[in-house]
Amino acid sequence: MNKVYGPDLRLQALFCAPQQSRRTSLTGSAQRHLTQPLHNRAVLAFFNDHHVLPLPPGHRFPVSKYRLLHERVERELPEVRLAPAPSASDGELALVHEPSYVSAVAEGRLTPAQQREIGFPWSPGMVERSRRSVGATIAAAQAALREGIAGNLAGGTHHAYPDRGSGYCVFNDVAVAARLMQAHWHRDHRRLLRVAVIDLDVHQGNGTAAVFRDDATVFTLSMHGAKNFPFRKEASDLDVDLPDGCTDGPYLQALDQALATLWARHADEPPGLVFYLAGADAHEGDRLGRLKLTHAGMAERDRRVFAACAQRGIPVALVMGGGYGRLIEETVDVQVSTWREALRAWHGYARR
Ligand SMILES: [Zn+2]
Repeated sequence: MNKVYGPDLRLQALFCAPQQSRRTSLTGSAQRHLTQPLHNRAVLAFFNDHHVLPLPPGHRFPVSKYRLLHERVERELPEVRLAPAPSASDGELALVHEPSYVSAVAEGRLTPAQQREIGFPWSPGMVERSRRSVGATIAAAQAALREGIAGNLAGGTHHAYPDRGSGYCVFNDVAVAARLMQAHWHRDHRRLLRVAVIDLDVHQGNGTAAVFRDDATVFTLSMHGAKNFPFRKEASDLDVDLPDGCTDGPYLQALDQALATLWARHADEPPGLVFYLAGADAHEGDRLGRLKLTHAGMAERDRRVFAACAQRGIPVALVMGGGYGRLIEETVDVQVSTWREALRAWHGYARR
């Protein structure tokens, strides 16, 4: 079914609000990122690992990877400028999420079943970290529109739906940021900002696909393990189902085809912003991924995505997505490599 343009009442509300309230819909620190000139041009990376996610002992989620990634990027990639993530406001979250869900999360009123589906126990720390994960992707998208490439050292919470969280995802950072960037773009340029989501996390971006199912302005591409979570998939604009054990060659071939389809579908009007979910869980060392990509294959994947966007001059907001390595250092190796490729591509944008 072809998607149709439809008025989005929440976006309309944002466009039609008085100038002052539109501007104050941004959080203070996000607004500063918008208005302050950059003194030393660099790739901006927003982090939120200083806000602790309290988990019980033995919990499966590898929360330490965020701090490890932060430390390694700081040490190994000095051209990446690290900045603390701002917090997303209720108004920003309501661009995608039901206000009743946002307040239930904020006030700890989710049912035990809803909390179990998310996979984290509720705590004020979980709420703040989830808000900042969205805030980081918003800030990254704003910076990408200025600088070419910017990113979030976390994010990619693509299993979150408007009315519920799932699979370690509370709010859908990319969906919120996409809608907010479209609103800002329309406010500032009176033009439509087309967005493409290139989701290469090994799990389908089901929440994102559902959010944008009837929205022709946001193209959702998901390449994922056919037999992996979520077991009931949504329809993205382009879904590529991969078999268990998929190796570098077939994966990269499928990626080339998917990207060619993405550009072909946008031959007349290319997207003005790409969100890239560079999930590290397609790596062969991942305990949940079920694919067999090597480090070289993962790096080549990232290179092809960045190169395809750079060639077309399309800004890229990078988010990390999942990564559950048997050795967590391997997940972090993959993510550092993604940032290295981002930096390499960014030099191309900086020269434009
Ligand atoms: Zn994943």
